Amino acid sequence: MEAKKLTQKVGNKKIVVNPPWPTFKESEIDRVYDLPYTRMPHPRYHSKEVIPAYEMIRHSINIHRGCFGGCTFCTISAHQGKFIASRSEKSVLKEVDKVTEMPDFKGYISDLGGPSANMYKMKGIHEEICRKCKRPSCIFPTICKNLDTDHKPMLDLYKKVRENPKVKKAFIGSGIRYDMILEKTGREETDENNSKYLREVIKNHVSGRLKVAPEHSSDEVLKFMRKPPFKLFEQLNDEFNKINKEENLNQQLVPYFISGHPGSKSEDMANLAIQTKKMNFKLEQVQDFTPTPMTLATVVYYSGYHPYTMEKIYTARNKNEKENQRKFFFWYKNEFKNSIINDLKSKGRTDLIDKLFK
Ligand code: SF4
Repeated sequence: MEAKKLTQKVGNKKIVVNPPWPTFKESEIDRVYDLPYTRMPHPRYHSKEVIPAYEMIRHSINIHRGCFGGCTFCTISAHQGKFIASRSEKSVLKEVDKVTEMPDFKGYISDLGGPSANMYKMKGIHEEICRKCKRPSCIFPTICKNLDTDHKPMLDLYKKVRENPKVKKAFIGSGIRYDMILEKTGREETDENNSKYLREVIKNHVSGRLKVAPEHSSDEVLKFMRKPPFKLFEQLNDEFNKINKEENLNQQLVPYFISGHPGSKSEDMANLAIQTKKMNFKLEQVQDFTPTPMTLATVVYYSGYHPYTMEKIYTARNKNEKENQRKFFFWYKNEFKNSIINDLKSKGRTDLIDKLFK
């Protein structure tokens, strides 16, 4: 790990301060990933026949570490850093070879990914600006002009993996940040590569279902989460369907949502149900907010206040409040219908009942 020197003026003196996040050189991260791992579960699990977590990762490859998304509920950037540390193509391809030699390999790499699948090799155009930057997210509220979001390094890498004769398919199983694909940078080549990336992923790297995480539909909650507005997910859905049609495919877009996030109320969940119903989704990939150490959302969850503004924030905390939010994901199931109707009636929101059930 290389600690780059950053200076700061204190009075008349310039002092060396620690960088806000550690950075790795490519050779350093390659060295870690090139170690002779057995790719086997820890021996303590030997008695278990199937280990679900292992099944998921046994043929998957991590191509980078870190995430500059800065979502308020996620702790990845605290663990792995905000700056992306990417492996070289050579190191990734060497691991692809290793996976193809595993006795149980049937030709399918389950994931070529990272914390966010499409941040490989991304960094600031002028890194000296990044070293002094205090933004918690490079892509929220807008994509930083200094961030190079060109997806070309991924297009090149995926192509080389596809060229391996022992690989039938390499899937992108990690989540994709679609804002970096859909939002135009004004740099012609980058915008072209980014559109090409979406098509390439849908055409060659989806196992039937592309998973993305809009997380909520309320723009207020999304803003709090440091996530892009819901209209961008609607745009992705349109693009996805268009590409499917053009390529004669029948892939499915699977959105992930969170209920009970600080700031989210029953009415927001009802709107989420209405908006996703309009888009013909029956949700399955959902989760209840779980407080995670070192995140802004968790501070709000425990304190009830936003630490930046000291504004009081509603948060579903007990089992009842949490289940009340979660049920909206499953509005189409009979078992939840009455409870949803009663809840919205008690809040005087019969307009939402009509939209959801009529
Ligand atoms: S300057 Fe931009 S790209 Fe660099 S760290 Fe800050 S937000 Fe990210």
